Amino acid sequence: MSVLVLGHKNPDTDSIVAALSATNLYRGRGIDAKAVAQGTPAPETAFVLERFGLQAPEVVTSVAGQEVYLVDYSDLAQAPADFKDAKLLGIIDHHKLGDVTSDSPVECYIQPVGCSNTVIKILHDFYGVKIDKALAGAMLCAILSDTVLFKSPTCTEQDKKAAQELAEIAGVTDLQALGMEMFKAKSNLAGATPRDLIFRDFKDFDMSGSKIGIGQLELVSLDLITPELKAQLQDELNKIKGEGRHSALLVLTDIMEEGSELLLASDDADKVAGALKATVSEKIWLPGVMSRKKQVVPFLEQAFKA
Ligand code: MG
Ligand code: MG
Ligand code: MG
Repeated sequence: MSVLVLGHKNPDTDSIVAALSATNLYRGRGIDAKAVAQGTPAPETAFVLERFGLQAPEVVTSVAGQEVYLVDYSDLAQAPADFKDAKLLGIIDHHKLGDVTSDSPVECYIQPVGCSNTVIKILHDFYGVKIDKALAGAMLCAILSDTVLFKSPTCTEQDKKAAQELAEIAGVTDLQALGMEMFKAKSNLAGATPRDLIFRDFKDFDMSGSKIGIGQLELVSLDLITPELKAQLQDELNKIKGEGRHSALLVLTDIMEEGSELLLASDDADKVAGALKATVSEKIWLPGVMSRKKQVVPFLEQAFKA
């Protein structure tokens, strides 16, 4: 039986491409690995796979009795429900350390860089495993996506270096143009329900016993969010909060303005807004905020610890 290589729930481009690229790495090392995902590709990821002629990983929602490598997370809340009945072999990630554990030694590569695929690129070099043109293109897109075209505060020199080297392999010369094409695909809201939009990139966190769900939509312009749609998103967020959460947040990021509008449903809205140095009002604007992992989650964790 192949070892599964699995990204997080509500998979984003990094999570899906990391399953593919880490599988390439493990196979290059002689490990029988298989890329899987906890969902089908969102529009941005579909664009990337199509653009470079790659197949989406098979969808898997149960891993009991299987051996698993995790990519792009280490939080139980983002793993399949029966993850505790699987055997964890390793983690490649770029987030805060989560709460998964193991019963035997694990191979972990976790770095504070902008993208899991940056870590995976470094590991390909380390182990001397080749990356083909199509995979390099997709890995490049994952880095452009996670670092928001290198503008996110999570972006490091290592991300830029990896992206440059991957671009050379993929034969991509204009990284910004490719990135904008990708973010335009991501900004396509047509045909999606408000619930789809919130869950497109949504993560649950256990913050000192409170369940906090945070969605993020990165758009080329917040003008795409009409007042009607904004009201619908708020209604849906209230419902999602009601499904056993202390708070549900939607971070609407304007990648050109380099800031985010926050929609919020919470048992304690003042505490959540306050943690982000904002006050509850008609429009909560968070200037400069582009990264959930670096500019939202840590401040909420802090506030909920207190
Ligand atoms: Mg991710
Ligand atoms: Mg990532
Ligand atoms: Mg992201």
